[in-house]
Amino acid sequence: MTRLLVASRNNKKLTELRRVLDTAGIVGLELLSLADVPEYPEAPETGATFEENALAKARDGYAATGIACVADDSGLSVDALNSMPGVLSARWAGVHGDDVTNYWLLLAQLTDVPEERRGAAFVSACALVTGPDPADEVTVRGEWRGTIAREPRGTGGFGYDPVFLPDGGTCSAAELSPEAKDAASHRGRALALLLPALRKLA
Ligand code: IMP
Repeated sequence: MTRLLVASRNNKKLTELRRVLDTAGIVGLELLSLADVPEYPEAPETGATFEENALAKARDGYAATGIACVADDSGLSVDALNSMPGVLSARWAGVHGDDVTNYWLLLAQLTDVPEERRGAAFVSACALVTGPDPADEVTVRGEWRGTIAREPRGTGGFGYDPVFLPDGGTCSAAELSPEAKDAASHRGRALALLLPALRKLA
């Protein structure tokens, strides 16, 4: 078994990666979370892009443990806001992780923006670091396009899900079942792009 550290404390991310690996028929990877390895200092996310943040987290995890490490960074990129909130998504209204205040601020900012310019994408960058050299690093990006609603809808999901209307449907992301969201989401798409590198590692 090759060990793979998932640089997250969120068990949902581990479960999702396990499901993606199983579906792809990739066996031979033992997934560890940050709770399974000795604690190390986690640098704040200060990168200008999702890719920079994901790669920094994966490099830190590999450097601290010597175990191949996968990390992700994600957020919402709104066309009419020149791709913001972007890497600032989690703290858009000033306090980290206040989802409801964050999306109400976004809705207020977009009050005068007409339907045809309310396009947006959820973005997820995933980085895999398997060694100390640049050749041991892979970074991928998955995007999920949609538009920003006029008001929140639905109670599922998290973050900006209630105000994100994925293209090709009538529901908000918070009205989708977890399975339907996984199948379409930015994170699922990024992980799918990482499969060749994960297959090689396994
Ligand atoms: P993180 O990459 O898990 O730190 O997520 C950063 C922030 O982006 C979250 O706090 C959410 O505000 C937003 N975000 C990322 N992915 C999603 C999603 O799937 N739905 C809703 N919001 C998301």
